[in-house]
Amino acid sequence: MHEYAREVIEAVKARDPLEPEFHQAVTEVFESVAPVLDAHSEYRQARILERLVEPERVIMFRVPWVDDNGDIQVNRGFRVQMNSAIGPYKGGLRFHPSVNLSTMKFLGFEQTFKNALTTLPMGGAKGGSDFNPKGKSDSEVMRFCQSFMTELYRHIGPDTDVPAGDIGVGGREIGYLFGQYKRLKNEFTGVLTGKGLGWGGSLVRPEATGYGVAYFITEMLATKGDSLAGKTIAISGYGNVGTYFVQKAVEFGAKVVSIGDEYGCAFDPDGISGEKLAYMADLWTVYRKSAKEYADKFDCEWRPETKPWRFIKCDIAVPTAMQNEIEAEDAAALVANGCQVVCEAANMPCTSEAIHVFEEAGVMYAPGKAANAGGVATSGLEMSQNSMRLSWSSDEVDGRLHQIMTGIHQACLEAAERFGSPGDYATGANIAGFLKVANAMMDQGVV
Ligand code: GLU
Repeated sequence: MHEYAREVIEAVKARDPLEPEFHQAVTEVFESVAPVLDAHSEYRQARILERLVEPERVIMFRVPWVDDNGDIQVNRGFRVQMNSAIGPYKGGLRFHPSVNLSTMKFLGFEQTFKNALTTLPMGGAKGGSDFNPKGKSDSEVMRFCQSFMTELYRHIGPDTDVPAGDIGVGGREIGYLFGQYKRLKNEFTGVLTGKGLGWGGSLVRPEATGYGVAYFITEMLATKGDSLAGKTIAISGYGNVGTYFVQKAVEFGAKVVSIGDEYGCAFDPDGISGEKLAYMADLWTVYRKSAKEYADKFDCEWRPETKPWRFIKCDIAVPTAMQNEIEAEDAAALVANGCQVVCEAANMPCTSEAIHVFEEAGVMYAPGKAANAGGVATSGLEMSQNSMRLSWSSDEVDGRLHQIMTGIHQACLEAAERFGSPGDYATGANIAGFLKVANAMMDQGVV
């Protein structure tokens, strides 16, 4: 670890000791950029690391709402506006009980570098609430979203900060949030992405994260003269990212054999496709049910409170759920079962120890900030279409997404090679993202 990076990490831990996820994200990036700091003392003089770890603005607010029984509920809302060096703040909203300031800061920090890698002009942000949409009625979700936006609207705007979805925030929530923003501001603008197709959304935005991951893995395998055809893949979620990843992976000839959630994991050795894939797509968005329903309906194995990584033999693991879902023991089990590629579709799903296990075993590992950037990249394309008041065709958007993912893959490999870690996607992604953001900050002075 570089001495300057170590000093800043220690200062972050001392200042905010109760933010382990944020410490983890900062440590992973700052460890990678050591060779850049060695070669460029100007970043230290400009205190770039100290500025990167301090969000430009943190907004925390009360979200009171009335449930279907007439009882008053109070949740906590957040928006961490991390860095605007290369564009308006951009990043999703997460509604999940695990949301707190540490998770919001880590996600905003990751988003800053991810957005830089897309090459589009987007700064980094994240927001959300500890509200749990599971088990809530549509009217409860609507009242919650309206209350959340009643505070958030004054801090965002199409040229200021453009939120989108993340875990627990999909098309339904974006609709309610957008409706309330429009009502409060009396403006119809591209203030959110992931909108409905009939009112400013972009074709391919729902599919983009999953498709992007499949494009990224395809590039990784191509460096070894290999492809997705015939590969067995394990995934851990069943939301938007997982569903469209499965769709593209099946199109490329692979077989995806698991889905899961916080209650357990369904193992389907025949692979998810056709009718089963259509059911998976509707499982949350239409039926609002657990992954167990899939196992019951298609008569396959359901392992309660188990992760797929522990017992499924796969060539490729694609964590699609939550931070730190792959721990060292999971990584060791994956390696023992012959897994050769781990590609993060979620944000920071592997612990640092798990990544170490993969590195030691020579498993190809791609970090989320590179591999899952297709979602936010297509959000950037939605912003462009909104600004132009135009809609592009699916082929146009998908073509641009594909090009962006290929470009990110290339940028990771080039940065890794240039700074002495050939083939190391994590180091390459961190360095490429860091250079773009840090250089913009240098140009813009002490702000
Ligand atoms: N939540 C997604 C992410 O983690 C998408 C963000 C966006 O589209 O702004 O990148």
